[in-house]
Amino acid sequence: VVAYFNGQFVDPDGAWVPLEERGHQFGDGVYEVIRVYSGRPFLMEEHLERLERSLRVIDIPNPHTREEWAQLIAESVRRSGEAEAQVYLQVTRGSAVRGHAFPGGTAPNVSLVVRPAAAPVHPEDAALLALPDERWPNVYVKSINLLPNVIAKETAKRAGAAEAMLVRAGVITEGASSNLWFVIGGRVYTHPANRYILGGITRQFVLQLARESGVEVVEEAVPFSKLGEVQEVFVTSTTQEILPVARVFTDRRIAPALDTLPAEPPETLLPKVEEPVEL
Ligand code: PLP
Repeated sequence: VVAYFNGQFVDPDGAWVPLEERGHQFGDGVYEVIRVYSGRPFLMEEHLERLERSLRVIDIPNPHTREEWAQLIAESVRRSGEAEAQVYLQVTRGSAVRGHAFPGGTAPNVSLVVRPAAAPVHPEDAALLALPDERWPNVYVKSINLLPNVIAKETAKRAGAAEAMLVRAGVITEGASSNLWFVIGGRVYTHPANRYILGGITRQFVLQLARESGVEVVEEAVPFSKLGEVQEVFVTSTTQEILPVARVFTDRRIAPALDTLPAEPPETLLPKVEEPVEL
């Protein structure tokens, strides 16, 4: 295992992150997970592009250029000596005395861990547990705030499922840490890459592969009520790759609340308030 923090390769078991740190205290940061095959990071440019967008949306300056990121990742993978690895990288707003609003004047903290990638397990009977999607409506930002995802995954695991199938406003969004795909009548459906899902890099790659091979793919959300018409289900993510699903189940009512927010993700979550309106 290779670990890196703010310019130095460090002991992965050491304490490097200050206690008064925005990621540590607020989850005020973003991350990426990149899979390495045969010593080469897979779809790295796409991951770095998504990282840039996540950072931009929450107004954290990108601490590195693409070239610097690529070099850092390459050097970390080289030091790990692993051919099959996964790179976890995280950027937070930085270290400051605790206070919710941005502290100003802080430099982002960069951490990175490379560890051997376990081959994804593909049980023959992988199941999905349908659960209400209780995350905030801006999950296109790959934020380190993952408590709802953690709870959903643990709930699925306790029910014997491999992954959660999250349902928001009556439609299936995605998994706790993956995107979901449904075959209906010979077409493949997956949720559009709007604010309600994390647009997976694997999702984008599978979309491209499907289109290149003449499979009809539709970026349209599947209503939970249509599950009976679904012939096949699979899951995609960087670490799971493509996981076929054998079974979908639920044991509780799915939240039917309607959303009123526009689906299009905003370019920034910090709009300028130019003319305050008195209420
Ligand atoms: N959706 C969520 C919520 C995720 O956390 C992830 C990955 O961790 C994905 C989808 C899949 O994204 P990717 O294919 O880029 O790994």
